[in-house]
Amino acid sequence: MASPSSDELLGTFVPIAVYWIYSGIYVMLGDLNQYRLHTKAEEETKNVVSKGTVVKGVLVQQAFQVAVSLLLFTFMSGDSGVLLPQPSFPVIILQFVVAMVVVDTWQYFMHRFMHINKFLYKHIHSKHHSLVVPYAFGALYNHPLEGLILDTIGGVLSFLISGMTPRTAIFFFSFATIKTVDDHCGLWLPGNLLHVFFNNNSAYHDIHHQLYGTKYNFSQPFFITWDKILGTHMPYSLEKRKEGGFEARPIKKID
Ligand SMILES: [Zn+2]
Ligand SMILES: [Zn+2]
Repeated sequence: MASPSSDELLGTFVPIAVYWIYSGIYVMLGDLNQYRLHTKAEEETKNVVSKGTVVKGVLVQQAFQVAVSLLLFTFMSGDSGVLLPQPSFPVIILQFVVAMVVVDTWQYFMHRFMHINKFLYKHIHSKHHSLVVPYAFGALYNHPLEGLILDTIGGVLSFLISGMTPRTAIFFFSFATIKTVDDHCGLWLPGNLLHVFFNNNSAYHDIHHQLYGTKYNFSQPFFITWDKILGTHMPYSLEKRKEGGFEARPIKKID
């Protein structure tokens, strides 16, 4: 048993700060009607929870995650205080990619299972889907058990399998947080660099949040590979709305 190192503490708390800072930037950008994937009216009628409830729900789930992470570090840490040397930059990049693949694989199967299993959907995952029109700070509006299964266990697996240091993990978990918030921002902003590098983006995930889309686009948060391999990929076209903004429309027939 050891107390968590400073890097482990940073790896726990920095992604939470990043979550609120990055989603706070989206709040400050305002409504941006010309880039929205849904109108404000749709947001008000389709979302069944208030923003206050969402903020509280995210804070509860983050508190739960902090508690679990600190417990894990306390019981799993090696020699506390001994700083592991950082490997070379190419090795760090490789560890990042391995960790992305591990998180994606874990989350795809767990996420899909939460849709297939009616009990898990009703009691756990439906909470995330109460936001039919996603927005940035609702990205982690999840049941705490979903946070534990998808995010915490997925995070631990990616950390262990990639072999990254706790210092690299601060950056990796912060990046994964940014990606998740961005995928829920509800906007199609020109020049979004994440859209250049990843096909899994706000429009792709928006399809999954629609009532017709819950059998498609389970992949998250980085790639769309598992959806493509396992036939759950729903391509979309981005159409301009007459009220302003865009609409992500499925291209394939919905089953
Ligand atoms: Zn889902
Ligand atoms: Zn989502």
